[in-house]
Amino acid sequence: MIDHTHNPDALSWVASASEAGNEFPLQNLPFGVFARRGSGDAPRVGVAIGGLILDVAACADAGLITGAAQGPARACAGPSLNALMARGRADWTALRHAIFALLDADAPGADERQDRAAMFLVPCADADMFMPAAVGDYTDFYASVHHAANVGRMMRPDNPLLPNYKHVPIGYHGRASSLVVSGTPVRRPWGQTKPDGADSPLVGPSRRLDYELEVGVFIGPGNDLGSPVPIDAIDDHLFGLCLVNDWSARDMQAWEYQPLGPFLAKNFGTTVSPWVVTMDALEPFRVPPAARPEGDPAPLPYLTGGADRLRGAFDVSLDVFVRSARMREQGLPPHRLSASNLQDLYWTLGQMATHHASNGCNLRPGDLLASGTVSGPGKGARGCLLELTWRGAEPLTLPTGEERRFLEDGDEVALQGTCRRTGAATIGFGECRGIVLPARPSP
Ligand code: MN
Repeated sequence: MIDHTHNPDALSWVASASEAGNEFPLQNLPFGVFARRGSGDAPRVGVAIGGLILDVAACADAGLITGAAQGPARACAGPSLNALMARGRADWTALRHAIFALLDADAPGADERQDRAAMFLVPCADADMFMPAAVGDYTDFYASVHHAANVGRMMRPDNPLLPNYKHVPIGYHGRASSLVVSGTPVRRPWGQTKPDGADSPLVGPSRRLDYELEVGVFIGPGNDLGSPVPIDAIDDHLFGLCLVNDWSARDMQAWEYQPLGPFLAKNFGTTVSPWVVTMDALEPFRVPPAARPEGDPAPLPYLTGGADRLRGAFDVSLDVFVRSARMREQGLPPHRLSASNLQDLYWTLGQMATHHASNGCNLRPGDLLASGTVSGPGKGARGCLLELTWRGAEPLTLPTGEERRFLEDGDEVALQGTCRRTGAATIGFGECRGIVLPARPSP
């Protein structure tokens, strides 16, 4: 529901929250896990406001967050968002309202609250960020038909989409242990590959390292094993969204993926943004899913919901930037590789979560479901290098003149997500960034 927390004119007394280009204005209030750098403090849950982080549980302890929001605020004392995620929508909204009131410049008594809350604010620049949740299970989908069609066309020019694609949200079980928070370097993996034309496979550092631009949804309250969630109730199980870079070793993937799907090509590091933008914050940016082309099958009834059809998609602009070692030496800014939008997915996040639980599979608080590479219809909207360079056949050129077919050591990849609509405050997802380290000398 749209409410006063979405009013684009609302301002915080935290001045940096109102600066142009700031991703965390009063209307956003994303959750993350932080610790003051060098303090030795245990990580705990905070909310970003401008260039600062609010220590939520400390505010509750000091009596600055009370009433219905006090319980959920106290759930923010731990080192992950799981406890808050498990509590459910009513608690999340109560806490959002309380934090909004605490930081609102125009609410009565703002001066006094500002004086008392100031001691619970930490500059982002002085904080280390951690994985926002303890992710028990991570699933990666394949929900962009543009991505699926491009990749399919490389393999099967005459029949790019497999017959199941438009009926069933395709996904695979990923690996939660190798999820890392933004800023963590990712080492080029060793693996088994079979180069084009080679008679036998070899093992060595991947030579076709790629990124994948994705968005993840964190599960809130789970469902019991054996108890599917109807699509009209799925929103109550979705806590919020983050950015995900599903680093992929294409040469390893091509050799290993049949018949059971991705394995070691995708579990050597998956970067997650530290801030989780809540479903409440995203409310003004919900839109109908992209229209299916004429003649496409309607989703089966269990994947068809009234609210999902009206507002199941999210208008989030997604950009990918790369900065090579040489670009850094020359002081050049990151170079944009693509621009796409989350609303172009073929399946909504709600349909993906509903489908995931439809066989009785139990989702749990903190589970992460990622969208799959978010590509759009145009060439400039391709969300990975595999598509952008057409498996290396059409290399792209960086501002230094360097060519790229796939990622080189020292390349830093950064994803950006922005919600921008008339009548709403612009909000962002914060950084999702990782640099490629050279492979180890031997596995
Ligand atoms: Mn992926």
